[in-house]
Amino acid sequence: MSRVAYVNGRYQPHAVAAVHIEDRGMQFSDGIYEVVAVVDGHPIDLSGHIARLDRSLTEMRIARPMPSRSLRLVMRELVRRNRLSNGIVYIQVNRGVYRRDHPFPPAHVAPSLVMTVRSGVGPSRTAIENGVPVITMPDRRWARRDIKSVSLLPNVLAKEAAHEAGAWEAWQVDRDGYITEGASTNAWIVSRDGALVTRPLNDDILAGITRQSLLALARADGMTVEERPFTVEEAKAAREAFTSSTTLSALPVVRIDDAVVANGVPGSLTRRLRELYAAHIAGAGREDWLPE
Ligand code: PMP
Repeated sequence: MSRVAYVNGRYQPHAVAAVHIEDRGMQFSDGIYEVVAVVDGHPIDLSGHIARLDRSLTEMRIARPMPSRSLRLVMRELVRRNRLSNGIVYIQVNRGVYRRDHPFPPAHVAPSLVMTVRSGVGPSRTAIENGVPVITMPDRRWARRDIKSVSLLPNVLAKEAAHEAGAWEAWQVDRDGYITEGASTNAWIVSRDGALVTRPLNDDILAGITRQSLLALARADGMTVEERPFTVEEAKAAREAFTSSTTLSALPVVRIDDAVVANGVPGSLTRRLRELYAAHIAGAGREDWLPE
């Protein structure tokens, strides 16, 4: 069975699905996106992803392509047509198609909506069991990292630099030496005194949906949680480190640049969080495509 994509109202074979050359997503990266995990045919934390999508649209002043109920219906239909059990749904909304000019097109120009699915994404068993290395590098992104914009050039360069260095992720470092987040993940450590630490939400980082769920699970489990910035030095000397996203859960980090984190194996708190997140995916995080 060949893959099916959704483009502006039509379900099309993935191989030929395309947007117009004057789509503003293509010309200006003038668009936003979401990635939702699908497990056993169910979307994980879908309400959170839809809320973040809405927020990104509002902040970018892009019109909603359709009401969220319709969006959910399209997602469900695309998953059905692709017979997707485990994987992701990718959603992208661009400001629409219009002759190239920087200011917004007239209000009658509708946003473009594209959706695709992919099966079987996620880290390898080896990565989960052994943990992964990350590098650190200056954060050269724009000042509104809270918006899930498709303008990802610095993230692409950062991820490539990580891969070329044999690492998994590039943790971004602000001008004061504090880690913001990864190129596509949120960054976490367990401090010397055993607290779970991750950067607080503001314009500096994306409000990861996995971050939000992990924080709630950690608090409910009685862990000490500190939402505060942490430096590269603190991370290198930490008891544990990990990085989180929709497709990763909490992925153990065992090396930061040349520093081995603790004894170089995934930490117990990280493993506990992975267990809690697995239970979340099988329980409360497992939503229906349509709210009841
Ligand atoms: N930060 C950035 C820059 C990201 O691109 C992502 C992945 N979308 C995340 C954090 C993690 O977010 P989530 O848990 O919602 O996947």
